Amino acid sequence: MNADVLVRCRAAARTYGTGPAAVVAVHGASCEIRAGDRIAITGPSGSGKSTLLHLLAALETPTSGKVTWPGLAQKPGPDTVGVVFQGPSLIPALDIAENTALPLILAGQPEPAARGRALDCLALVDAAHLADKLPEEISGGQAQRVAVARVLAAAPRLILADEPTGQLDQDTGSRVIDVLVATADALGAGLVVTTHDPHVAGRLSRQWSMHDGRLQPVPPVPQDARPPTRQGDGQ
Ligand code: ADP
Ligand code: MG
Repeated sequence: MNADVLVRCRAAARTYGTGPAAVVAVHGASCEIRAGDRIAITGPSGSGKSTLLHLLAALETPTSGKVTWPGLAQKPGPDTVGVVFQGPSLIPALDIAENTALPLILAGQPEPAARGRALDCLALVDAAHLADKLPEEISGGQAQRVAVARVLAAAPRLILADEPTGQLDQDTGSRVIDVLVATADALGAGLVVTTHDPHVAGRLSRQWSMHDGRLQPVPPVPQDARPPTRQGDGQ
């Protein structure tokens, strides 16, 4: 059952810096994420969650070990692996609709179609009214929702959301998780969400945790014990 493994880490580690100043952000992490997986990664600040997500997205290269993407035809790009970044990620000179449509336009979609899809995805996170604003004119929580909409618009096979509710109140955060899960279901995608919030973690079917750069052992889940997916995998 390798075909639906979107990403696999084999003892993947990432160290920043060298010598006495070196920081091991992630120690040999081993895990697999499949289409249909709904995984929360919890852990204190500085435990390596963002670094692990960046390894899964090929935004960082492991300093040892290996990360592979058996279920993707090629190395991840925005159309296959979507990342909701923890920090600000909108382009200041573009309005919110343009920011949301940008990955589609870069992928070659005609602008009107890209804009239409961007507006639909903004509406999913209650942000359609922000379409004509610039990033500097919206709040941190609104920017976080726009970053979610931008990833949904690209319809990736794997969604990696780094503390996507960190600046949202509980109700709004809950709605954003609903939208992420519903979109992942509709796409037959894998979904990984890092969070400090136990309510958010509880909304996902599996929980992993990180402490001091160590991903807690993830026992293999037998196929018949895996949570059911609504649409079937790989659609
Ligand atoms: P988390 O997302 O759980 O807060 P991070 O992955 O951001 O954890 O960070 C893990 C560790 O790696 C921390 O000690 C952090 O200071 C360090 N770190 C992260 N990114 C860098 C970087 N670009 N350069 C140096 N150290 C970094
Ligand atoms: Mg982080």
